[in-house]
Amino acid sequence: MDESSSEWCEIPGRLDLSPESLREFAHGAVDWMVDYLTGLGHDPSGLVQPLEPARSIFDRFDEPLPEEGLSPARALEEFRTTVVPFATHLQHPGNLGYIPNSSGIVGIVADLLASTLNQNVSLVRGGASAAAIEAEVVRWLQSLLGFPEPGGGVLTSGGSVANLMGLALARERMGGGEGLRFYVSEQTHSSIERALRFLGVPGEAMRTVGVDEGLRMRPDALQKAIRSDRASGLRPTAVVATAGTIGSGAVDPLVALAEVSREEGLWLHVDGAYGALAAAAPSGAWMRAGLASADSLSLDPHKWLFVPIDTSCLLVRDPDFLRRLFNVVPEYLKVSAAEQQDVHQPMQHTIELSRRFRALRLWMALKTYGARSIRSKIEEHLALARMLASWVEAEPGFELAAPVETSTVAFRYGSPGLASGEASDERNERIFDCLSRRPGLFVSRNRLRGRFTLRACITHLRTTESDVRRFWDACREEASRLGGESC
Ligand SMILES: *Cc1c(COP(=O)(O)O)cnc(C)c1O
Repeated sequence: MDESSSEWCEIPGRLDLSPESLREFAHGAVDWMVDYLTGLGHDPSGLVQPLEPARSIFDRFDEPLPEEGLSPARALEEFRTTVVPFATHLQHPGNLGYIPNSSGIVGIVADLLASTLNQNVSLVRGGASAAAIEAEVVRWLQSLLGFPEPGGGVLTSGGSVANLMGLALARERMGGGEGLRFYVSEQTHSSIERALRFLGVPGEAMRTVGVDEGLRMRPDALQKAIRSDRASGLRPTAVVATAGTIGSGAVDPLVALAEVSREEGLWLHVDGAYGALAAAAPSGAWMRAGLASADSLSLDPHKWLFVPIDTSCLLVRDPDFLRRLFNVVPEYLKVSAAEQQDVHQPMQHTIELSRRFRALRLWMALKTYGARSIRSKIEEHLALARMLASWVEAEPGFELAAPVETSTVAFRYGSPGLASGEASDERNERIFDCLSRRPGLFVSRNRLRGRFTLRACITHLRTTESDVRRFWDACREEASRLGGESC
């Protein structure tokens, strides 16, 4: 490829692009992409996470601002040789950590197309088809989960932002002010506390309600807390339920919590960032009635619908109320009646103004996969989790740390056998550290009821039974190491 920067530079005044060299550059990137995606899945011995310490990786990227430009071909080469080797390969099928993110090729290519078209999905005039497609995929997501019509919603960058918006709606419904109370459980995701802080709600406004033996919020405890707060002159505002906790994939009893919320006049926000999409599958369909009773519901297609990160959704029962919250329109963003017709402007639904065309990935992915194959893929994940749970239960020395309701299996080794809780925690933490260093696996840590737990979460497009088997064999192997033996 020609390296002279004059041919390549896109800066105005030096614009001299040849379509051939543009194509060669882009094809080079696509070739890398296909090699990466097809090579990775076949390599259980490949490291998911680089072993090099973070500090030294940061030190590698410490160059001064380049004064003169490189050719794009050289930049692509640097990406290959310096970026990729120190990346975390979350696309690897051995990714069972946190809530695994994975993207199929359709969502990846859709991103390239979306960036090329570069729509600004704030006003319809920034991209009419993009705005219409966003409204369409939101309806498709509602339909996938049986979320009641009409309802509505908006795509967001992540579950944290969707949760923030859901809580902002709850506060708005109360008209703000002092003494607000938001009811969570000990398993509620940290994004809820962060959202409340961001909304300027004081710390004591977050009230933790007790859980049952399956780590699910107790409706009776909730009702009691609400009544006692009200009796003290406080203003119970919202119940924040979770459909699929990070720790064990637990699903709060949504229907019962909705009943309490309705009786007591509280907003019900359901954080389904991880687990709501389980309701698309036959064996997760029991969650649908609960999800349908939410006033606001967050879900993360970037966790369980095989599209790239930055694809999340907030669904609401009352889109008019959502639009009232964001109804600030300066003169320069006004749209004439003739232009407005009966469509809504995307900016009316969200705090963002300039927004990329993130709906395209979902639109293309849902079109090409079809709902049927998505349902069966999610079903497969739920079945893999039940299979892993059955192995854990059958293995002497291991025990489940919580029931398996979605696709997360939380467990530990040796708890009854080891003399103290601390000894058991130490042992499990060592197993976790050893698992983390293994090739072909990516795991994450947690504690449940104060005790260290091992966990696997299965939402990855490419994870199969053999990957789960590999993980489980590794757990047993690490557990069988003698006392001080290092990994
Ligand atoms: C992932 C997750 C979040 C946060 O979502 P992001 O997309 O990472 O911002 C919130 N709640 C739950 C239960 C989650 O699993």
